[in-house]
Amino acid sequence: MPSREAPRPLLDLWLERLFGDDEPAHLGSGWASGVASVFLGAIALGSVLVFWFPEWLSTAQFRRLYPMPLLRGLIEVVIGVAFLAGGLSLLLRRRKVLGFTGCALALLAALLGGGRVAVEGDLDRPATLGLDWFLLNLFLLALVFVPLERLFPRWRDQSPFRIGWTTDAVHFFASHVLVQALSLLILLPATTLAALWRPDGLQASVRAQPLWLQFLEVLLLADLAQYSVHRAFHQVPLLWRFHAIHHSSRALDWLAGSRLHLLDVVVTRGLVLVPLFLLGFAQPALHAYLVFVSFHAVFIHANVRFRLAALEPILVPPRFHHWHHAAAPEARDRNFAVHLPWLDRLFGTAYLPREGWPPDYGIAGDPVPEGYLEQLAYPLRVERPGLRST
Ligand SMILES: [Zn+2]
Ligand SMILES: [Zn+2]
Repeated sequence: MPSREAPRPLLDLWLERLFGDDEPAHLGSGWASGVASVFLGAIALGSVLVFWFPEWLSTAQFRRLYPMPLLRGLIEVVIGVAFLAGGLSLLLRRRKVLGFTGCALALLAALLGGGRVAVEGDLDRPATLGLDWFLLNLFLLALVFVPLERLFPRWRDQSPFRIGWTTDAVHFFASHVLVQALSLLILLPATTLAALWRPDGLQASVRAQPLWLQFLEVLLLADLAQYSVHRAFHQVPLLWRFHAIHHSSRALDWLAGSRLHLLDVVVTRGLVLVPLFLLGFAQPALHAYLVFVSFHAVFIHANVRFRLAALEPILVPPRFHHWHHAAAPEARDRNFAVHLPWLDRLFGTAYLPREGWPPDYGIAGDPVPEGYLEQLAYPLRVERPGLRST
């Protein structure tokens, strides 16, 4: 495991005290089934709460797009699996807290109506929290990446509950629950500029291209913009204070990529959208890119050992971005692209040894504190000038 010795955040310690024990965690010990039960029970209960209070907890832009019969059935399945996994953990494990918690969450979700709750309320209410968006993304990403990280781990001994996982989980929670407010801010530069400058002829010819070609152009333009903004976040000291949050992870996995200061999220994504909006790409091409980026950005942080050697020159694999997070001085301020590694080769900022992965990650001296609120406030603290020299 690549982590240096570091103090655990309070939330890590609190959860460990609540759920932890000295029993083994291998398959058949009731640990994985207990964790799965708590995870699925919490997802089920959260989903039922969204059904009860859709006007507050479901995202206004998405709520009408959901395939409701499918989601209702899925919630019932999730409740059932949470019960079964909880029961299994209760049978296998001496300490029962995981199994009991999972079963209690699933029971509460079922008692509150499960997937059968009628969706009522003022669904035209514009300002909402995106609990639905958080739960859907958490469920889908965990479904893909938890098995991948267990079957093909880069760091076999790294627990999903490594130091700082709760900080990353809160980052993930905040950036999804605040989706509506963040989208508004992210769209602001693109929509403002698009209102000022409308090259109708150019936009019509962009949209007349086949969708696959538009998708490739979107990928190129988005990564060119992302490369420039990302490089600025590394090289302008004031911006680095914000981006240092992302680089403070001492271990990488699918959750670590969520560790981003909100200003970093808004500025980077906002500026990436500007060329795409100005050129007027068709909605399906933009949507395909958004789906692609939400999986690819998680994949390149994941604790997986895929080399994807044939793709390595054209599409960023995990090893390329892992080197971007390396603590080693020779890898510092390298590999800014998140999709197209040849952009870094073109601009002379690539660092990818022929073989091997970074031995450890993060910023030398570990200047960034753990904890979500501490990280949100960190760039604004005036007593730490010269961050980059640490
Ligand atoms: Zn970076
Ligand atoms: Zn990263």
